[in-house]
Amino acid sequence: MNYAMSGFNTRNLDRLGNQVRVSMKVDEDGYFGRECPVQECLGYFKVTAGTGIQGPAPCHCPYCGHSGDNNTFWTQEQLEYAKSVGLRQFTDALQSDLKSMEFEHRPRGGFGIGISMKFKPGAPVPIRHYKEKALETEVVCDHCTLRYAIYGVFGWCPDCGVHNSLQILGKNLELARKQLVLAESVEKELASHLVGDALENVVSAFDGFGREACAAKGIDIQFQNLAGARRRVQDSFQADFGDALTPDEWSSVCRVFQKRHLLAHKMGVVDEDYLKKANDPGAVIGRKVDVSSQEVTAVIVIIETLGKRLFDAILGPKP
Ligand SMILES: [Zn+2]
Ligand SMILES: [Zn+2]
Repeated sequence: MNYAMSGFNTRNLDRLGNQVRVSMKVDEDGYFGRECPVQECLGYFKVTAGTGIQGPAPCHCPYCGHSGDNNTFWTQEQLEYAKSVGLRQFTDALQSDLKSMEFEHRPRGGFGIGISMKFKPGAPVPIRHYKEKALETEVVCDHCTLRYAIYGVFGWCPDCGVHNSLQILGKNLELARKQLVLAESVEKELASHLVGDALENVVSAFDGFGREACAAKGIDIQFQNLAGARRRVQDSFQADFGDALTPDEWSSVCRVFQKRHLLAHKMGVVDEDYLKKANDPGAVIGRKVDVSSQEVTAVIVIIETLGKRLFDAILGPKP
């Protein structure tokens, strides 16, 4: 018998070309997962495409600060998904091509030989679907307007690379302001509690912000004791964040920080340590320290100034 096999029909494979386009989906909140390619980091975060810098821009890891091409920030799950979709498209095309080559020659006459080829498709390649993870803090960058989500609170903006610590400080100071407004409309005891609480929040917000800004540069400084922090920042960064204030402002912000220490650790009762450090002539040992809404309001303004100064010195754009 003379039988010539016709050429392999690759119509469907050809249509695929040498690349497969896989479109990635966003999660229910419009976020798209990203993963830092640095082996020691592999930090996971999410961004909303199109909300930040327009046009091509490198991607910044919010955790370690690594920056690189967007195409290097795929998550492992996204890559598995893309691979499986590509493989499925390839095998589907291959199967269609093979199917189109099916043939059957029936035997002729009494002793003819029949020959046929039937294609039995195997199980289709499974698509490796994935789900983006839930994260802890959502941020809209006040520098480039990118909407992104991270673990923890602090980090670099994935689009513009500006650290969000000053922005988070501003948000916390805003909350403290709201507490002070609320205090005006409630009875005295609760009001004084709210004012004290607002003060504690201002100090912890500044402490969290300052520590984080320094930690971003690998230096560990606490900011609950302002005078000590000022010296340490001078030593480590050759920058004085206190020089934006008048001596009176500086001494009043230090006093208010000492008041916070009493509230947090001594139920607000004045002790010797406070008298030594706070420069507060009205204070009497054994009596409760006086914290007014006005002085907390004034300190919020001062902290905004100090925060900006510290941020520019440590994380601001290089001159
Ligand atoms: Zn990283
Ligand atoms: Zn940004």
